[in-house]
Amino acid sequence: MSEKIDIKSYNYIELQDYFVQLGEKAFRAKQVYSWLHEKLVTDFTQMTNIGAALKEKLEAQCYITALTPVEVLESAVDGTKKYLFRLVDGNIIESVFLPYKHGNSVCISTQVGCRMGCKFCASTLDGLTRNLTTSEMLEEVYRIQTLSGQRISHIVLMGAGEPLDNFDNVVKFLEMISDEHGLNISQRNITLSTCGLVPQMKKLAEKDLQITLAISLHASTQETRRELMPIAKRYEISEVIEACRDYFNKTGRRLTFEYSLVRDVNDTKAEAEKLAKLLAKLNCHVNLIPVNPIKERDFRESGAANIANFKNTLEKNGINVTIRREMGRDINGACGQLRKSYLENKSSFQDSRSKRNSANFEK
Ligand code: SAH
Repeated sequence: MSEKIDIKSYNYIELQDYFVQLGEKAFRAKQVYSWLHEKLVTDFTQMTNIGAALKEKLEAQCYITALTPVEVLESAVDGTKKYLFRLVDGNIIESVFLPYKHGNSVCISTQVGCRMGCKFCASTLDGLTRNLTTSEMLEEVYRIQTLSGQRISHIVLMGAGEPLDNFDNVVKFLEMISDEHGLNISQRNITLSTCGLVPQMKKLAEKDLQITLAISLHASTQETRRELMPIAKRYEISEVIEACRDYFNKTGRRLTFEYSLVRDVNDTKAEAEKLAKLLAKLNCHVNLIPVNPIKERDFRESGAANIANFKNTLEKNGINVTIRREMGRDINGACGQLRKSYLENKSSFQDSRSKRNSANFEK
């Protein structure tokens, strides 16, 4: 028996081609696409304007990817909601709902685990299990919109995984989530964060997308960057900056640099001055993030004075900078922490301090 088709990963054109191949009219594809990507149904039986014979055919040949919510934790502080989802193969991923004044944002995972090995990050501690499919990434947004009852207008690819290490599925996700036949989320409201995979950054620049590219820099010198991010051994910081320049020249999109401040590692005035020099001629914005300590490592966050000094030094040198508001810290806000604590100990997880705000979907 041949494998069933992942119909939710078909884009609008692919779905039309498939329907033509089935001997169906093209407008049927439009209807089914709308059920899947606008009305967000998870079952063919819910497609009320599709005839029984076609439904049966689709049922026999295709499956509709759906994520099963396992747990949702809501921050008592800022309304951030963290969702744990189970994939069909049993793997667990996490996605985050972030209510901002300018609109509701979802932070999605792009892989199960990660193989980039950044020293301060919880998502990478157990390495990479597998890439997420396009339909699984779409489902992170669709399920959260459905479960929260709130319209999602912004997306950040900053959850677990390295988006550019799952290049084709991620680019297709970006195209489909912004498709006018689907949720139609503006590409200008989407940010993709990368640890700096230089060849893929160049490939992305050719894709003619209007998304914001964010680069996890976390250092201003090759030496410091290598300490924190093994990927720096593969691509020098200067190559990353060159790829950023190239990205801006091709897309006209201002870049964002993420810089997690780690006490006594990358938070000195000298480091800030070097950073200002490195970024001087780029159209960019720096996002300072006090590192969120994970229990497996002994990195500590910078003190308030160092954070303020770092920001001032950058500003004095003409760099745009913001300090990122830490959201959902009371619910294991940092990348991968919630999933990890869930996998490590399902029962004690239930006793976490956010219990009163958590809904358990597991019987
Ligand atoms: N792989 C991508 C996206 C995922 S991580 C990337 O590297 O950009 C999203 C951001 O959170 C990255 O900037 C990452 O370096 C940062 N991050 C991960 N763990 C963190 C922690 N414990 N404290 C602060 N920032 C963290």
